[in-house]
Amino acid sequence: MDGNLVLVVNSGSSSIKYQLVDPASGAVEAAGLVERIGEAGGAIEHRTDGRTVSEQVSIPDHTAGLRLAFAKFAETGHDLTAAGVTAVGHRVVHGGEVFYRPTLVDAGVLAAIEDLSALAPLHNPANVRGIEAVCTLLPNVPQVAVFDTAFFHGLPDAAKTYAIDAKVAETHGIRRYGFHGTSHEYVSGRVAEFLGRPAGSLNQIVFHLGNGASVSALRGGRPVDTSMGLTPLEGLVMGTRSGDLDPGIILHLMRTAHLDVNGVDRLLNRGSGLRGMAGVNDFRELRRLIGEGDDNARLAYDVYVHRLRRYLGAYLIELGGVDAITFTAGVGENNPDVRADALAGLSRFGIAVDPDRNTAKDRSARRISPLDAEVEVLVVPTNEELAIARAAAAVTATV
Ligand code: AMP
Repeated sequence: MDGNLVLVVNSGSSSIKYQLVDPASGAVEAAGLVERIGEAGGAIEHRTDGRTVSEQVSIPDHTAGLRLAFAKFAETGHDLTAAGVTAVGHRVVHGGEVFYRPTLVDAGVLAAIEDLSALAPLHNPANVRGIEAVCTLLPNVPQVAVFDTAFFHGLPDAAKTYAIDAKVAETHGIRRYGFHGTSHEYVSGRVAEFLGRPAGSLNQIVFHLGNGASVSALRGGRPVDTSMGLTPLEGLVMGTRSGDLDPGIILHLMRTAHLDVNGVDRLLNRGSGLRGMAGVNDFRELRRLIGEGDDNARLAYDVYVHRLRRYLGAYLIELGGVDAITFTAGVGENNPDVRADALAGLSRFGIAVDPDRNTAKDRSARRISPLDAEVEVLVVPTNEELAIARAAAAVTATV
């Protein structure tokens, strides 16, 4: 096995996604998903060399899940415990005010990530479990935490501050942190490469539209605004999350529907967005329902697009003009209707989508605006795993 590979681990509360990546070439040696950790019906799916092996097995905790993954690596010719993995890169959701660059993990860093759990109760504890499990299995390999919030650390004060009591905000760490930072950073960098222009010379708007969705505005390569806030709940309409709403709705529901904190959490994080409005969170399902004439699905789509346009307008004005608008992630990369509808009727702002380019079956980074349009409209596949692998390799190279 080549000696310069990075294992990338994205550990959720009941699942672990992983990839073994060559950070230089971007080649993926193997990848997999461990699901339903600590629940009935545990399973692993491991892919390497074009082959997929699956197994259904009880997986009590994250260490057992990673042990299983390591066994699959060994069975398929990649012994991770032998020399070859130079670093492990972990996706960590919330870095708070503390972490704003990829960080080599030690006991203090691990404790600090755990301490930030109040800001990300669903994510940070799971990230910590994943790091602990890998530390046990690969004790001599450096572990690097790569934070989803880090890219947005330097947001301007006016963009990151909520208009609430300043003391309350300070005491409780309430500010806009932003998420999907690894993707926004990677994609905006690829845009500059694609256009052959320095990132520092470009104003960009990047729509990351997956099951979670966010949009960022960048001036000269640095973010000046982003739609997610204290948590990944704010902003665009998502698969199961509401995005923006009047905070008075929460008070109203607590008073009239007697929802407690868990009820509100469930409603807004899991039972809202496309699923709440149309009963499905997957965009392909939504399109199918619209095709069948389902009015709720149509309305959900219209709300989704309306929210995209509202942010687009705000960010155009904030930037004072834009050089490139880019779509990425599952919906952004694969759904031409969303791209066309989000940017419809904006030719007076130099923004247009060429219908043939927009619907072309092409999975690479590409331009979908007419060649003579003032604003470049692009589709750029995101690759958070590669970005994490590169960040981890860069940190360990300096140790
Ligand atoms: P992500 O979170 O980036 O994996 O994106 C998940 C979302 O992308 C889901 O709503 C999917 O329905 C959507 N998606 C993924 N692949 C496609 C595709 N080929 N066509 C349309 N939507 C897709």
